[in-house]
Amino acid sequence: MGYSFEQHKIIGAIEADDGFWRALEDGRLQLPRCTGCNHWTWPAHHRCGHCGSWDFAWTDVEPQGTVFTHTRTRYAFDRVLERKDEVPYVTLVVELPGADGARVMGVLTGDESGLAIGAQVRGHIRPPSAKTKHYPAIEWELVR
Ligand SMILES: [Zn+2]
Repeated sequence: MGYSFEQHKIIGAIEADDGFWRALEDGRLQLPRCTGCNHWTWPAHHRCGHCGSWDFAWTDVEPQGTVFTHTRTRYAFDRVLERKDEVPYVTLVVELPGADGARVMGVLTGDESGLAIGAQVRGHIRPPSAKTKHYPAIEWELVR
């Protein structure tokens, strides 16, 4: 596919979240968990804010959760022109019970009926594409 994690690193990234992108590239959702106190640390940091440890284990998380909030994009903004054909589309912030309520973002796909805060969703990890600026991505679907 011509994709390589190293070629598509986020400009200005602090690299604490590299494990997130590497796991998505492998088709898995992983978040960092402190090896000192087991606290889920997301967004990623280099050091645990609870116990001070510098060590994290990238841990598999089921890509299922609940809608924490959502927004509908009705305009093809310059920075997301890749999605101009999908406007309007919905972006979710999803709370993951499998990671102590850590929250991740992604676009909603499929039938939108039943979309509400608290609705159950399942994530599907998609490979990098031009539409996602060559990053792997999680797309969410409402659970019926
Ligand atoms: Zn800790």
